[in-house]
Amino acid sequence: MSAGRVHRPETLEEATALLGELDDVMVYGGGTAIQILRKQGLLFTEDYVDIAGIPGLRDLTVTDDDITIGTLVPLRRVETDPRTRRLVPVAAAAYGQAANPRVRNTASAGGNIAHGDYRLDPPTALVVLDATVHLASAAGSREVAVREFFTDFQETDVRHGEMITAITVPRQPDGSRSSFVKMRSLSENDWPCASAAVLAVPEDGFVEIRMGLGAVAPTTVYLAFDVTPDMDEQQAVEAALDIADSVMDPIADIRGSASYKARLGRVAVEQAVRSSLKELSRD
Ligand SMILES: Cc1cc2nc3c(=O)[nH]c(=O)nc-3n(C[C@H](O)[C@H](O)[C@H](O)COP(=O)(O)OP(=O)(O)OC[C@H]3O[C@@H](n4cnc5c(N)ncnc54)[C@H](O)[C@@H]3O)c2cc1C
Repeated sequence: MSAGRVHRPETLEEATALLGELDDVMVYGGGTAIQILRKQGLLFTEDYVDIAGIPGLRDLTVTDDDITIGTLVPLRRVETDPRTRRLVPVAAAAYGQAANPRVRNTASAGGNIAHGDYRLDPPTALVVLDATVHLASAAGSREVAVREFFTDFQETDVRHGEMITAITVPRQPDGSRSSFVKMRSLSENDWPCASAAVLAVPEDGFVEIRMGLGAVAPTTVYLAFDVTPDMDEQQAVEAALDIADSVMDPIADIRGSASYKARLGRVAVEQAVRSSLKELSRD
């Protein structure tokens, strides 16, 4: 197996020039997915652009409205930074349950979403928070709503010549409550059979429920519905399960059959919706 050539640009301009010029090229982030795929003999890419030397990509910036996570910010930092825990707790929870601490210390926020796996935990929170992905290429920059970013099974909207520079996550709305539930069938640190991030947002006379589902369909799924004043908690859970059922299409693997994963998907949705609504009713 060829080791592949590694390029180490020191500026964003150099990196995007390389990504545009080279044919068979990948960005090297934390390397946790790339290294496993190479060891498994599933990746033969010729050129890697290691972006570790580019200034600014490890910044985590907070404004009155949102948090911007540089592409090289490790998952562990999103999980543990007091600002993310306070302002976007559903994201801190989802990042904090991906893989194990060793992977989370190395894996990057941008590499995580670029990996595009349908089971990833962090995207479930990013879709409920309506995050935005920032991309750069030699031609300039563009932004994509994370809800549009995962285009198909293992496919994202990152185009040839582009790289992710950051993810902007709006703060959780005032008074909202959230929950992230991950169901595993193997070890505690394993990929999920199903996961659900839920954000309950009180509006004028109703509660908006936003749900992000992982591992139960070929891509991360985003769903939303309203809990009206005539609905009790049980009716809200049933409404959530009805719309979740309509999109669930799990892939059978060593972690379980499709029907088992769909059942765990229902459990994750129910637990996350109940927990968020209970928190709201305590206020
Ligand atoms: C043992 C193990 C268990 C895991 N379990 C889970 C789990 O339970 N839940 C979960 O969510 N994830 C899990 N993961 C996946 C893990 O989250 C990803 O491997 C990791 O987030 C990828 O980030 P990275 O920076 O290491 O990416 P890399 O390995 O560097 O790259 C991954 C992909 O993203 C691309 N890429 C990287 N950075 C950029 C960029 N800035 N712009 C464009 N493309 C880019 C690369 O070219 C490559 O295609 C697990 C991984 C391992 C190894």
